[in-house]
Amino acid sequence: MVKLGRTIKLRLYPDTNQAEQFLAMRQEYQRVANIVSQWIFDHEFQLSWLKINHQLYKKLRQESSLNSQMVQSVFRTVVARYKTVQELMKQHPYRYKNEEKKWVQVPRNLDWLVKPIQFRRPQADLVRQSNYSFVDKMRQISITTLGKRTKLAFTDKGFEKYFTGDWKLGTAKLVHNRGKWFLHIGITKEVSDFDAKDNPTVVGIDRGLRFLVTAFDSKGKTLFFDGQKILLRRKGFLEIRRQLQSKGTKSAKKKLKRLAQRENRWMTDVNHWLAKTLVAVYGSHTLFVLEDLTNVTFNTDDLPKSLRNSHRSWAFFQLESFLTYKAQAIQSAVVKVNPAFTSQRCPKCGLVEKTNRHHETHEYWCTQCQYRCNDDRLGAMNIEMLGQDWLNGVKHPKIKKLTTAG
Ligand SMILES: [Zn+2]
Repeated sequence: MVKLGRTIKLRLYPDTNQAEQFLAMRQEYQRVANIVSQWIFDHEFQLSWLKINHQLYKKLRQESSLNSQMVQSVFRTVVARYKTVQELMKQHPYRYKNEEKKWVQVPRNLDWLVKPIQFRRPQADLVRQSNYSFVDKMRQISITTLGKRTKLAFTDKGFEKYFTGDWKLGTAKLVHNRGKWFLHIGITKEVSDFDAKDNPTVVGIDRGLRFLVTAFDSKGKTLFFDGQKILLRRKGFLEIRRQLQSKGTKSAKKKLKRLAQRENRWMTDVNHWLAKTLVAVYGSHTLFVLEDLTNVTFNTDDLPKSLRNSHRSWAFFQLESFLTYKAQAIQSAVVKVNPAFTSQRCPKCGLVEKTNRHHETHEYWCTQCQYRCNDDRLGAMNIEMLGQDWLNGVKHPKIKKLTTAG
C-alpha cells in the first residue's frame, strides 16, 4: 500500500465579524509561538516536544485563549521551524579565510543564533472535529476560533472530487491571502502499490522539443505530442525578453520578472496537461519509463540556438514529478533509466551508431540492417526496451555500446 497525500483549498466566506475572529486567533497564535520560541532560545535549544509540553502547556493554557489542540500545534510549528533552521545551518557551515589565505569551515549549530526565531505569519493548524468540521450536510464549515464556534460558507471549486471518494481529511491551515480567506486541508488516501508482476504496459517516453513527448508502448503503438506550438510560444517569450533586456530600465526589469513568472506558469500548465493526458491514455498498471536526466549535460544539438537555455531541464523535471505523482494514484509507476545511446541504438539489430541518426531529416537509418524510423520514435522505443529490462530485474538498465570485434 502507498499513502497518497494532497492538499485541497477551500475558499471561505467569513462576514466582518468572523474575519475579525480569524485575525484575532492568528494574532494569538503568533504571540504564543513567540513565547515558545523565546523559551527554546533560553533553554539551550531544547527541541523535545515532550519537555516543552511539560514545561509550558499548563501555563499557556491558563493565560491564553487558544484551545488544547492549538497550543500543541504551536509547539509543533515552532519546533519544526527550529529543526529546519538547524538543518540549514548544518548544510551551510561558516567559512572564512585564515592567515595563510586558506578557506576554513566551521560547522554551525543553533548556538549561533543571537536571538530567538521570530514568528511573523504563523498559520494555525486546525485539527479535524475539534477545530473544524463540516456541517449542514457539507454545505457549511464550522471553525473554532478562540473558544467560539462559528459557521460559514465555502466553495470547493476544482476539488469536488476529493469529497466524494475515500480521501481522509486531516489537519487544516487557515490561510489569509490578499484579503481572501482559505482553508487548506491535508488529505490522504491509501491505494495499492504498482505491482511489477501485474503484467504492466510499458511506455517509453522520449522528451524533446519538436515533439514534446513521444511515447512508445509495449503493444507497439506510438503517440506524438506536438511541440511546435510550444516552440513558437517560447520564441515569442524570448523575443519580448530580449527587447526588455536591451532597455535595461527599472520598469523593463519589472516587466521581465512578470514575463518570467507568466512563462513558468504557462509551462507548468503544459506539463500538467501532458501528465494528465499520459495517465488518462495508458491508465492503471502502466510502467512509464523516462530517461534519468540528473547529472546529464543537456545535449542541445537538437535545439535552435535561440532556445538553448536552462529552462528546458527545469520543465523536464517538472513533467517527471507530475507524472510520478499522478501515476502513483492509479497503480502505475515511473522508472528512470540511463539515457546513454537511446538515440543511437537500432531497435531491430542492436547496433549503436551515432551517424545512423540524421538530424536534418529526423530519421534513423541503420547501416547494418537497413531499419528506418523517425528519430523521436526511435528514442522512445529504446527507452521502452530499457523499461522491459527493469521489469525483468535489471536494477539500472542501460544501453552498452559494444565495440565491433570485426
Ligand atoms: Zn539495425
